[in-house]
Parts: sequence; structure tokens; C-alpha cells
Amino acid sequence: ALEKEKPGSVAKIKVVVRKRPLNKKEVAKKEEDIITIEQHTNSLTVHETKLKVDLTEYVEKHEFVFDAVLDEDVSNDEVYRETVEPVVASIFHRTKATCFAYGQTGSGKTYTMQPLPLRASQDILRLMNHTYRTQRLQLFFSFFEIYGGKLFDLLNDRRKLCMREDGKQQVCIVGLQEYRVSNVETIRELIEKGNATRSTGTTGANEESSRSHAILQLAIKKPADGNDPKHLRRAADGSESKSAKVVGKISFIDLAGSERGADTTDNDKQTRIEGAEINKSLLALKECIRALDNDQVHIPFRGSKLTEVLRDSFIGDSRTVMISCISPSSGSCEHTLNTLRYADRVK
Ligand code: ADP
Ligand code: MG
Repeated sequence: ALEKEKPGSVAKIKVVVRKRPLNKKEVAKKEEDIITIEQHTNSLTVHETKLKVDLTEYVEKHEFVFDAVLDEDVSNDEVYRETVEPVVASIFHRTKATCFAYGQTGSGKTYTMQPLPLRASQDILRLMNHTYRTQRLQLFFSFFEIYGGKLFDLLNDRRKLCMREDGKQQVCIVGLQEYRVSNVETIRELIEKGNATRSTGTTGANEESSRSHAILQLAIKKPADGNDPKHLRRAADGSESKSAKVVGKISFIDLAGSERGADTTDNDKQTRIEGAEINKSLLALKECIRALDNDQVHIPFRGSKLTEVLRDSFIGDSRTVMISCISPSSGSCEHTLNTLRYADRVK
């Protein structure tokens, strides 16, 4: 089935909502599941409890419809099939695919996002080694984060990186380690290494990873003519990939906790600055996806570092998958409504 997917057969933008199960903490606090999902109509209802002026309770229902709604019993494998699998083959046809996980901290973004690149790379390697074998394509892996508007390499001790445009609408991240990968085991190790680097920044209650966007990219490249493939296999420091041309790319983005964008009145100055940056980037992202959806010529990617870095993924033939993660709990009602409204605006 994979081989048949050519660009054009898959929607340009797909918005999917995933609900996670209630966790022990929420159950202990006697919080309730306020989300009902109707899979066959792709609709989702939030049952919000409100108070009248005389303090009696009533329930206000908010209904939303998305491209797909995934209930709490849906496995990561099914999430893959619903979101990333349909776009994987398109990156062999000069398409840039991007998959975002959006939602408040604790809603399941990382849980959802972590297995996706590994599953995708299995499919990509299979296509490379079979369907597209004669093209001698190569797969490159990179993993970095945006924290406070700055870029850090997650595969190189959080080395600070800077971004440059090459005048041909390609984004170049100076110093970013790109690893040539040819088997799933190496990819698994790189993902684990990057994730470990990401989480060592944890400082107590304010989990650092909730304040950064993590960007994992798999790029398919074709070596420039005349290059000896043996010579190309030499190093893993990125130098070998310079002479190669990008055929297509898929990016997996574990976004900062959406509630962090509201930290703009926090007592701590650093927290306020970071909150403002996150708020700016999530708004800019929404504007860019909307512009893409409307086939606008001008994409407002200059609005934030996040959208600037993704610039080449918004230009030309692109596929965007937004996975909005939500908690089912009554205690998260406000954040959940914010997430669903954001997802609704992106559509
Ligand atoms: P986030 O990255 O949005 O902050 P996490 O992915 O870390 O959230 O999820 C928070 C907790 O909930 C984790 O312990 C995770 O294992 C659990 N969790 C998230 N989504 C699911 C799910 N769909 N099914 C089971 N457990 C989940
Ligand atoms: Mg996370």
C-alpha cells in the first residue's frame, strides 16, 4: 500500500486529536472524564461543568469535528497508521512532511511522538532498499531543540547552533550534526541519545522539556553525480551530506507545552521571556499552517524561530499533520478547550 501513495492522494493538512486515559493522579483527585468521542463521525464533545449565578451546576457541551479523533484505547501503532504512514512515501517525491504534537504538558505529546520516527524510518528504509534501490538514496538523521528562541543540537551535547538561509529557500543550520543512517538500530540509539540530552535539563517542578520544541528530522538525499558511494559512507559529521541533494524530508516536532505560552505574567523574568517566545512561536505556527491551507503565496514564517527553521517545509509541496493531545480530565477542561480551539483554527 505504501508504494502507491503519491503526492496528491493525501490531504495537505490533517488535524487529528488524541485523548489519553485518565491517570492515577487524576483519579485520586476524583476528577472525571469529560471527553466523549464518536469515532465514526470524527467528532468530539467536551462536557464542561459551569456554575449558574445561584451556584447550581450545569453542563455546557462543546462539539468539535476533526479529520480523525483517536480515543484512549487507540495504540501508538494505530496513531502511526492514521497520521504519518500516509505521508511517508510522499517524501520520495520531493515533498516535505511535518508532524506536530501539540498540547498542554502532560497531555501525551512525547508519548505520542516518540515511536513515530522509528516506525517511519522502518518504512523509509524499506522503500529506499526496494522500490527506490536504483536511485542510491541516503537517509540522514538530525535532532535539535529550540529553547528560548535559540537552537541546540541534541546529538552534540546541546551545542548552540545558528541558522542561515542559503538564498535558495533552503534552511541551513550551521554546525548541526547530521548522521547518515542505514539501519533501524542506529536510529533507535540516536533517538534515545537525543531524548536523554533533552531531559537532563530538568530542574525540579518546572520540567525544562515542556519549554522547548524538539525537532527530529529524517532527510532523504541523493548524492551528487560522480560521487563514489564508498567515499560518501566515510564519516558521520555531516561533511558527506553537503554534496548531496535533498530529495525529501520528514520532521517530527514535539512542541513546547501549550500552557507555557501563557507564562507571560510569571514572577520569574526568564520564565516570562520563555513564555513569550513559546506564545509567539505557537501563534506563528498556526498562521503558517493556515496560510498553507489557503494556498497563500506568502507564508508568514518570519514570525518565530520555530517557523523560520521550518521554512523549507512550508514551501513547495508539503504535508502537515497536527496531532493535538488532550487530557480527559475535568481538571484540565480549560487547557483542553484551548487545545481544541487551536486545532480547529488550524484546519
Ligand atoms: P507531554 O509530553 O505532553 O508533557 P507525556 O507524553 O509525557 O506528556 O505524557 C504524560 C504521561 O501520560 C506519561 O507518563 C505518559 O506515559 C502518559 N500517557 C500519555 N499518553 C498516554 C496514552 N495515550 N496512553 C497511556 N499513557 C499515556
Ligand atoms: Mg513531553
